[in-house]
Amino acid sequence: MPIYEYLCPSCNGRFQKLVSGFSDPPGLACPRCGGQEVRRAISRVAVLKSEEARAEALADPSMFAGLDENDPKSIARWAKKLGKELGEDAGEDWDEMVDEMLEEEMGREAGEGDEADGDEDGARPKKSAPDDLGWAD
Ligand SMILES: [Zn+2]
Repeated sequence: MPIYEYLCPSCNGRFQKLVSGFSDPPGLACPRCGGQEVRRAISRVAVLKSEEARAEALADPSMFAGLDENDPKSIARWAKKLGKELGEDAGEDWDEMVDEMLEEEMGREAGEGDEADGDEDGARPKKSAPDDLGWAD
C-alpha cells in the first residue's frame, strides 16, 4: 500500500496517509486543523507546482551546492538543474532560455555588447587609486 503525502491549504500542514488504490480514503482530514480540503501530493513534480513547495526547493541548500554566483557558467548549470526540479512547469525551452541568458551574461562581461547605450553599469571606468596621498614608500 502506498503512502501518499497530503497538503492542507488551511494550515499549510502536510501529512502522510496510507492509501489503498487511487482514491482518497473516506473521512480524510488534516490531523492538525481538521480541515477536509486536503490535496494529495501526487508526485514530486506536482508538489513543486505549488509556490510554497517551489520556495522550499529553492531553499534546499543542496540546490546551491557548487554554485558560484559570480560565475555565469556556474549559474547556468544551476539554473538547468533547477529546471529539472521544476519539471514540466519550467517549460520545454528552459535550457534554451538558460543558454541565451548565459550568452548574454558572458557577452556583457567581455564588454562585447553593442546595445550599451543606456547601460549604467557597463562601461564605468575603473577608479584608479590617487597617488597624491603623500604615503611614503
Ligand atoms: Zn490543516
